[in-house]
Amino acid sequence: MTDMMQAWRLRSRPDGDIADGDLELVTEPIPSLSDGQVLVEVNYVSLDPTNRIWMSDMDQYMPPVALGDIMRAGIAGTVLESKHAKYTPGMTVGGLGGWATHFVADAATIQPIPDVPGISLAKIFGSLGGTALTAYFGLLDICDPQPGETLVVSAAAGAVGSVVGQIGKIKGSRVIGIAGGPDKCAYVVDELGFDACIDYKNEDVGSRLDALCPDGIDINFENVGGDIMEAVMSRMNDFSRMPLCGMISTYNDSEDQPGPKSWPLILMRRIKVQGFIVSDYARDFGKASMQIAQWAAEGKIKTREDIRPGIENAVTTVKDLYTGGNFGKLLLEVKAP
Ligand code: NDP
Repeated sequence: MTDMMQAWRLRSRPDGDIADGDLELVTEPIPSLSDGQVLVEVNYVSLDPTNRIWMSDMDQYMPPVALGDIMRAGIAGTVLESKHAKYTPGMTVGGLGGWATHFVADAATIQPIPDVPGISLAKIFGSLGGTALTAYFGLLDICDPQPGETLVVSAAAGAVGSVVGQIGKIKGSRVIGIAGGPDKCAYVVDELGFDACIDYKNEDVGSRLDALCPDGIDINFENVGGDIMEAVMSRMNDFSRMPLCGMISTYNDSEDQPGPKSWPLILMRRIKVQGFIVSDYARDFGKASMQIAQWAAEGKIKTREDIRPGIENAVTTVKDLYTGGNFGKLLLEVKAP
């Protein structure tokens, strides 16, 4: 077994887009284990929009990654060595780790990932994992969608948005997606069963929403922020709901953005706007995961992964999230399971 690992360490906080030199790939000794710790060989790193938030020191929901630390990420991997009774070598586990080939985790920060015959680890950990749970809780807990309601979801071909729309269809909503480019829009409608999809890169979002939502919008599952959010919010109905899941269009901004112009409409139309973080629902993950797995097995939820090889490609790959260069749940395959 090797005693060296590779890891990306945060050297400076990005100003705008992530720049060369903000992170450094280092080769260093694997730390030795203390009691209660587990050494994990990383199979997959989950690359997520929030990685850019964690690199910054903006006011956020977790401490930012400290300068000099290994870049934080969700990981799935294989136990190589354990000083905790619950874990034995060879087990597959997931949890918070980092952009690295190996990770020493406190046992309390990881969980076993069950082996499900016929379903890849990339799917269980990736597209049916945290992002599907985000869709599940943001839509069902905050919005309680009713049959016949109109649901709009942005970043609709992405990991969260694609599942939001499909759960919306299961609940009987009319689902309109917003995504970048004809291929993603075709996927959302033809493969996932959304009622329509607006290609925000080639169409005027406002006039397309007017045509597609003549009775207004009951639920806006917000993933993007900025102009797209403004266009949707200004068409929301009285007593509509808006889970604020993410604002990816702003994550690389170096200046604070002004608040939404539609802010007064929250009052006038009595819109429920609620930010949430999926980990708020951690104690209910088990039940929700069972439901998501059942829908997937029944073919009611389809997901895709976008798997890129090589720890050395972490920085170039994560940037794709902010340009739409990914198509599906973005994962870095560090070592094939
Ligand atoms: P995706 O798989 O959706 O990938 C990100 C997508 O965002 C891109 O593919 C791109 O799609 C779209 N995008 C990027 N920049 C812009 C832009 N300027 N304008 C419009 N669309 C843009 O990622 P996730 O599903 O993981 O994340 C989606 C959102 O959900 C993010 O905002 C993220 O922060 C949030 N999130 C929140 C969680 C929570 O607990 N609250 C948990 C997980 C995610 P396209 O090609 O269509 O432009």
